[in-house]
Amino acid sequence: MRPPRVRHFKTKKNRNDAHRKDKKRRSKHNWNRISEHFTLKDFQDKQNNEGQNFRISLGLIGGLELLRSQSQNKVIILKGFQSEDISNKTQKDYHALGLAADIKIENLSSKETFLLAEKIPEFKGIGLNISKDYVHVDLRKEATTQYWIEENNNIIPLTDELRKIHLENNN
Ligand SMILES: [Zn+2]
Repeated sequence: MRPPRVRHFKTKKNRNDAHRKDKKRRSKHNWNRISEHFTLKDFQDKQNNEGQNFRISLGLIGGLELLRSQSQNKVIILKGFQSEDISNKTQKDYHALGLAADIKIENLSSKETFLLAEKIPEFKGIGLNISKDYVHVDLRKEATTQYWIEENNNIIPLTDELRKIHLENNN
């Protein structure tokens, strides 16, 4: 004789437990997700934990998602939004506007990252920081994309000559 089938009744307690678990899972993994591969936390000001005036451009995130899919590697945000640095007013701070990110791509050099970033139409400012080994991308309002290299805090517009030296050699 077959044993009688056991029926499970959903009690109110069981339902609540399941709901609680679900809520916990969501809050742990998804609450600050803003796109497939990025969370708000990736872009928050690392120095200013209160996150005052926090803002981030969805166009920037879209560009970074494109970069993620084209490189097939994780894009690491070193700096996203950052409150304006009053002491450094020499150039427009796209980080304070939520329009810029300093990035690295896992398994790729900064040079390779720069060359990939050039293919993303959203990015209108692309800088290769040689001394700190990262790439800055931003969504400045320019008809043509601005390219530069940065070395020891000097920003130098990228000329053909500099491109040959820094982006076309094989090291
Ligand atoms: Zn930057």
